Amino acid sequence: MRALRLDFESRQLGIADVPEPNQPTSGQVRLRLLECGVCGTDRSLAEFEFGQPPKGESTLILGHEAVGIVESTGQLVVPMVRRNCGPLCDMCRRGRRDSCLTGKYVERGIFGLHGYLCEYALDHEDDLIAVPPSLADLAVLVEPASVIEKAWELALRLHIGQPRRVLVLGAGPIGILAAWCALQNGLEVTVLSREPEDSTRAQLLTRHGATYTRILDGIRADIILEACGSAELAIESMRTLGRLGVLIILGARPAEVSLPCLDMIIGNHVIAGSVNASRQHFQQAVTRLESYDRRWFEPLITRLPLARAVESILSPPPGAIKIVHTISE
Ligand code: BGC
Repeated sequence: MRALRLDFESRQLGIADVPEPNQPTSGQVRLRLLECGVCGTDRSLAEFEFGQPPKGESTLILGHEAVGIVESTGQLVVPMVRRNCGPLCDMCRRGRRDSCLTGKYVERGIFGLHGYLCEYALDHEDDLIAVPPSLADLAVLVEPASVIEKAWELALRLHIGQPRRVLVLGAGPIGILAAWCALQNGLEVTVLSREPEDSTRAQLLTRHGATYTRILDGIRADIILEACGSAELAIESMRTLGRLGVLIILGARPAEVSLPCLDMIIGNHVIAGSVNASRQHFQQAVTRLESYDRRWFEPLITRLPLARAVESILSPPPGAIKIVHTISE
């Protein structure tokens, strides 16, 4: 079968012909992959910033934002990304592998397990989220949306007052989905990013009720969701935080930054990181995506064949916001 494979020895990314997975063993099912999205994590993997092939192998099939069909039942599914550590830590045992305590988890297409930018994969039924056929065209967004559900829940838990204003940093797919999620929760949303005000990204936000800006001046926020990759901007944006304000870091790369400690103390500010998502967050993502108007998504998603996956990761077409690879019908 065809697969997008990252070779850790030759340090190359390429489409390769690889053997199909074996027959499923008990509790497993075989998936026929329909679509798989790519994101910043895939780009970091392709730059060898992190990631790991399965034990004993030197290549990793990428792809963790997948939609597939269970061959034996015809059920449409989205696989979760992370798999439990072993022996199970307390959090993995409680079904919260997204908050694994040991760090010995593995992740499909990222750490130690092959991903889904390929034609077929095996999975345990427990690792799959059933998706209604009515959501087939948006199911590929369930995984990124699940990451936002978790971050959003965390932000609301950490803010001990009554948050009203949200600042989202970055107008990539995560920033846009995060802004829509906050708007749906009745908050005032500002998105700060570097694209021009008349860009498609900005319009996807302002059309649905968010304010779009390229500068921090004049913004006041109770919750900041960082989805831009910049630690410097995340810390700088803390000057917009009101009392009890919460900053959630989702994608910032490591950087040397100075914390505004005095303001943090006086303001009772909280900074937290969030990664991955639990089954419940995946299910919430399904419900939320179902509630949105389908027309919002047209400018968001660019569909390309699997054959173009190297290009979409290494030099994405300008203008594309979310690239999704179609694998089979
Ligand atoms: C994925 C998460 C994963 C994280 C770190 C993100 O792109 O959405 O599920 O845990 O990368 O590997």
